[in-house]
Amino acid sequence: MLRDACGVIGISLRDPSSSVAKSIYYALHSLQHRGQEAAGISVHDGKAMRTHRGMGLVSEVFDDAQIALLRGSVGIGHVRYPTTGESCIENAQPLLVKYRDGGIAVAHNGNLVNTRALREQLEAAGDIFHSTSDTEVVAHLFVRELQRHDLVDAVRALTRKLVGSYSMVFLYGNTVLAVRDPLGIKPLCIGKLENGFMVASESVAVDTLTGKLVRDVKPGELVVIREGEIECHVLSHNTPAHCIFEYIYFARPDSIMDGRLVYDVRVNIGGVLAEEHPADADTVAPIPDSGITLAVGYHQRSGIRYRECLMKNRYVGRTFIMPDQSMRETAVRLKLNTIRPNIDGHKLVLVDDSIVRGTTSVRIVKMVRDAGAKSVHIRIGSPPIVAPCYLGIDMASRDELIAAHKTIAGVEAVLDADSLGYVSLDGLIRAIGIPKEHLCTGCLTGYYPVEIPGENCNVSQTKITEYLNDTS
Ligand code: AMP
Repeated sequence: MLRDACGVIGISLRDPSSSVAKSIYYALHSLQHRGQEAAGISVHDGKAMRTHRGMGLVSEVFDDAQIALLRGSVGIGHVRYPTTGESCIENAQPLLVKYRDGGIAVAHNGNLVNTRALREQLEAAGDIFHSTSDTEVVAHLFVRELQRHDLVDAVRALTRKLVGSYSMVFLYGNTVLAVRDPLGIKPLCIGKLENGFMVASESVAVDTLTGKLVRDVKPGELVVIREGEIECHVLSHNTPAHCIFEYIYFARPDSIMDGRLVYDVRVNIGGVLAEEHPADADTVAPIPDSGITLAVGYHQRSGIRYRECLMKNRYVGRTFIMPDQSMRETAVRLKLNTIRPNIDGHKLVLVDDSIVRGTTSVRIVKMVRDAGAKSVHIRIGSPPIVAPCYLGIDMASRDELIAAHKTIAGVEAVLDADSLGYVSLDGLIRAIGIPKEHLCTGCLTGYYPVEIPGENCNVSQTKITEYLNDTS
């Protein structure tokens, strides 16, 4: 099972002679935080499809010459997150599938939990697969449905077979199709451009192209964009289960999701954290970068002064050669350094979004103690992460999750913090402003909105099962 936490883009421009590749390229740059392992673009010029994909950052995969070769006014793009799964070009997207009537390109953000069974069925029926990717299973299924139905019904039939999270874009001839799973687990939004329409994982991509955010794609909705015009079909009506971790960590703070600016949500979370876990401290500082907005909220609500105490070097890339054991400290310092005068003799509140394995927090508590902190209070903008994510966030297995095996006091002891406070689930939900029943809280509660073997499933599944079983 691949755990794809990725970013997708789909754009169709009205004028068939216009070039879409550069717009997709810029939009992918704005989604780079959603995936750094691989990137790709597929375009169609009315006659043929062209694709370029590669391993690495968007800027490493594309240059002017490649963009110039990608002729066409319609296309899709993808950035892939480094995952625990296979890191190879075959798993880079868009994924292409050829069939009798042409070819289809697919790009997927999310994670399907029933692809093994689907793949076995397809293989038994004679299909041959070229990669280990779930997305290839989707593409094969879609091709089969297209031979039986018109476009909208083919997507409807496809979505009835898929279980899990997906915000998916297809390039089918000169048409972009975008579909969001019936629970709307992963984000997807619609943007209006001066000369067409787009869909994107996050609204920052729409901003980048100076477009206007129209709205989120609804859970269970299909969006068809052709020749720069848009058409929407709601395929199913369900209670949503939006990924709560997008609000906590994954989405960019300048994105708007479900009508909420993520920045405001995170400031709210920091405020709730300050109410729930006050601290005897004189300085609030973020653990950069993801703790910054939360720390602002904590500072505003508590009145404790805000001072940055840690500086992150954003330019230490993935290609950075790890020094040997004797230079370990150098490597750590290169990525993160302390601002000693802001720390020495001070009582600190350090704010981060989450503790997964505990590695980051342990290291940081030691660093600030070495820099002279009098006391260190750790505050976390999520409740303890107690269960793995099967639905699109590359997190860690249960064995690796520190809070899955230890009490909060136990984690505090491992961190060597003077105190540790996690925001409560109710407080977090209040800060987001979406009802609990409309969120996927699997990683925080161990209850998932879709059926996963060996795990608990909550009420949303009842509704989704009705949809999946409805073959009318
Ligand atoms: P850990 O060091 O394993 O406890 O991880 C916690 C740190 O990783 C926090 O600073 C988070 O901002 C960050 N983080 C949380 N979730 C993810 C994720 N899915 N991918 C990458 N980093 C993450």
